[in-house]
Amino acid sequence: MQPDTDVLVVGAGPTGLTTAIELARRGIGVRMVDKVMPRPYAESRAEGLHAKSLEIFERQGLLAPVLEQGRVLAGFAFRSGGRRLGELSAGGLDSPHAYAVLLPQSEIERIQIERLAELGVDVQRPVELVHMQQEGGAVRAHLLAGDGNHSEVTARYLVAADGGHSVVRKSLGIPFSGHALQGAYVMDAVADFAAEPPPDRGTFILGRGGFLVVGHRPDGTYRIALSLPAHDQRISADRPTRDELQMLLDDFPEMEIRLRSISWSSAFFISSRAVDRLRHGRVFLAGDAAHIHSPVGGQGMNTGIQDAVNLGWKLAIAIQARGGERLLDSYDAERLPIIRRLIASTTTSTKPLLWHNPVAVAARNSLLRLVMRLPPLQTALFDSFTGFSVRYRSGAFVAAKRHAMGSRGPLPGEIAPEADRGGRRWYLLWGDDTRHQLLIFGDPSAARDRALAWAQQHCELVRPIVVAVQSLADDPDVVLDPTGALRRRYAVTSSGALYLVRPDGYIAARSSAVDDVGPLATYVDAILSSTGVRWERATRRSPANGRTFTGRSNDSSGSPGRFANSATRRWRCRPT
Ligand SMILES: Cc1cc2nc3c(=O)[nH]c(=O)nc-3n(C[C@H](O)[C@H](O)[C@H](O)COP(=O)(O)OP(=O)(O)OC[C@H]3O[C@@H](n4cnc5c(N)ncnc54)[C@H](O)[C@@H]3O)c2cc1C
Repeated sequence: MQPDTDVLVVGAGPTGLTTAIELARRGIGVRMVDKVMPRPYAESRAEGLHAKSLEIFERQGLLAPVLEQGRVLAGFAFRSGGRRLGELSAGGLDSPHAYAVLLPQSEIERIQIERLAELGVDVQRPVELVHMQQEGGAVRAHLLAGDGNHSEVTARYLVAADGGHSVVRKSLGIPFSGHALQGAYVMDAVADFAAEPPPDRGTFILGRGGFLVVGHRPDGTYRIALSLPAHDQRISADRPTRDELQMLLDDFPEMEIRLRSISWSSAFFISSRAVDRLRHGRVFLAGDAAHIHSPVGGQGMNTGIQDAVNLGWKLAIAIQARGGERLLDSYDAERLPIIRRLIASTTTSTKPLLWHNPVAVAARNSLLRLVMRLPPLQTALFDSFTGFSVRYRSGAFVAAKRHAMGSRGPLPGEIAPEADRGGRRWYLLWGDDTRHQLLIFGDPSAARDRALAWAQQHCELVRPIVVAVQSLADDPDVVLDPTGALRRRYAVTSSGALYLVRPDGYIAARSSAVDDVGPLATYVDAILSSTGVRWERATRRSPANGRTFTGRSNDSSGSPGRFANSATRRWRCRPT
């Protein structure tokens, strides 16, 4: 069966949109449906983008509008019992974006939708996936449009980003195991405070038997969220009134919040649940469809975005090469342990925030005060809920671990770092290039040329970037490192080094000598043998606009492949 599209993405939330952008950037055919029209600003759910998501958005070309429309937060202030406990600052994060951005999810989605449209994909809505099945090497989805029309679409793969109540998950009979955690109440309000919360910080009030989070929204209203151990009997409906919410806020006398008006409110129960597999044949679960948990640390949306980025490039390679089972399996192998850890850590860290016993509350507050006084502990805590502690330790594609370099420098499966702050940002060279990037550390030599030649042989997957002390020409594939900051980050010695970085920013493989491409070749061979297809490139000219594009010479679909950008022009493969 010739499917109608490469990938059907179900659900245009942050996870589905990130997946679709990752695929569309690589020229993969995407169809995207959502059962509702875009949500209004006032009904937005998530508000906080963490540094890891900001880095992803930067690579996808979304950072500028996010910064323009959002509010930058330097960290979080904690108060309890009328006293300041301390602050958690994002400043220690190992990121060029060591802050968070407060922007309603509705606006984040709008920015993503605009980017997706630029890439040629429109979200079809309101179109609901009613059920689906896998058959004959494809997925068949049954869709119901808002006008009552039923239709079917077939796709090579389906990404289920259809949220916590995922129909896809239910269609496949996949268990969503876990338990109910706590009651939650959220409101967007115009309010007065005895002491105005700082505009550049999120404010946490830890009460007895619950906690409260306040943030300034970009439109001047406040987002106030409360968590209580159980549903409060005084609240009658899932859209609480201003008076009902005021009663709840009065239990947190700390800030003397007086609600003047509310534009949106919601009462719901938070559960902690996850699937036990993310891949089911040709179907991949991502974001809330695969995991939901306590809102502590604002990790739901941010984790979904990271799921999508892990999946996107793998799916693209598998589709371009019509194969790649092991590569696709690595989505499950890499993300599932992260999700399990997330569920465990959010559940564990939520419990003390709901304590009622005054002795326990005092002990918790003392511990928090201590953590917030010690910058390394602050950073470790921030790392853990912003995705910076993520290491992909399992899966076939981070296998060649400590090859010849001991534990010095970043290991395969770890985040590929930038230079220390103030140093040159090699990520900026990444630009629109969606391939693996090979960082070549070494002086001009025959060995370095061999590494370049190896990259050129694999230019379908790999783009070389030379890290040089100085460069005479303005070369787009050279990153200057005059102070040695980048070499130090990568623990490079006099024999040079090679670091192959995956499209999602994690180290794929590394070698402690510039003339030893062995570990890199093992990794690339694993991908190529996983796809089982010979990669051959042909250079043709588009009849439509005369632009040069590169495509697979064995691609019978007539698909044009990815348009050549400056990097592929420079490192175009020799036709085989
Ligand atoms: C009040 C609140 C505050 C939150 N704050 C934060 C925060 O600050 N930071 C954070 O990281 N997370 C936060 N979260 C969690 C965050 O909102 C979710 O984790 C995030 O929305 C998950 O994104 P998603 O794309 O996976 O799913 P969703 O955003 O739920 O998107 C799923 C999409 O699928 C569509 N859909 C569903 N079923 C179908 C179907 N059958 N056919 C077609 N389309 C379908 C839906 O219409 C929806 O658009 C918050 C959640 C809540 C409730």
